[in-house]
Amino acid sequence: MSWARRLIHEANRWLPRAEHGVVVVTYHLIDGGIDSAVDIPFDRFRAHMEQLRPLASTLRDALEHLVTGSQGTRVVVTFDDAFANFFDLAWPVLCGLGVPAVLYVPTDFVDGRGAPPLRGAERLRPCSWDALREATATGLLEVGSHTCSHRDLARLDPRSARDELTRSRARLEDELGRPVTSFCYPRGRSAPWLEPLVRERYATAVVRGGRKLTAARWSPWQLERVPVRRDGPPDALELLSAGVWLEEWLSTRFQPIRSRRG
Ligand SMILES: [Zn+2]
Repeated sequence: MSWARRLIHEANRWLPRAEHGVVVVTYHLIDGGIDSAVDIPFDRFRAHMEQLRPLASTLRDALEHLVTGSQGTRVVVTFDDAFANFFDLAWPVLCGLGVPAVLYVPTDFVDGRGAPPLRGAERLRPCSWDALREATATGLLEVGSHTCSHRDLARLDPRSARDELTRSRARLEDELGRPVTSFCYPRGRSAPWLEPLVRERYATAVVRGGRKLTAARWSPWQLERVPVRRDGPPDALELLSAGVWLEEWLSTRFQPIRSRRG
């Protein structure tokens, strides 16, 4: 871990902490065998899920927790990018523990088109539509859109962005035979002009940010996520306190520490 990241983690500990609210944690790969900070060792993932199980909640219940201003913390476990790796390693753990999750799917990748959504993951396969159908039928997995091509929407023209938002939802609903209401921006990168386009099509949207959501400060279309990184805190409970807000905030402003986050 770089000294800068270590310093930021230390500084995070001193930030004010919210006692009640919701934390959206985001995973990408488990033991994917690639050189990426978001490829997490299996043992750490399993330990996280065992720790988080008592707090784990569906996205719908977590938002209800915020609407009613309930006491305590709820955790929403999310996965980005829909690698086959999710079903090989993460899904059996989630099922075994009964931890609900949301998987954000870039539809072109699952359809076998375009580059994988994470750099360095060229040899990794996408999951299959069959696996997605089976998992969503259990009620434990919700599938959300992660666009079609996984391009940074903030860099597209409005027409292309609208197309990504509309076609990905249609493709998912067509394959899964159920409504798709959740969205996650590729790399968590949002922009003010994009939000109305997202709101027209989705009930919720996940963005970068790293803060805990509280009853006093949240929006369904700006659900800040806490990305789980290999060089982040090994203890899952640390993700629930100050989170990695400072790190996220800095990474939106300084290119050198921007991660290869998918
Ligand atoms: Zn992604």
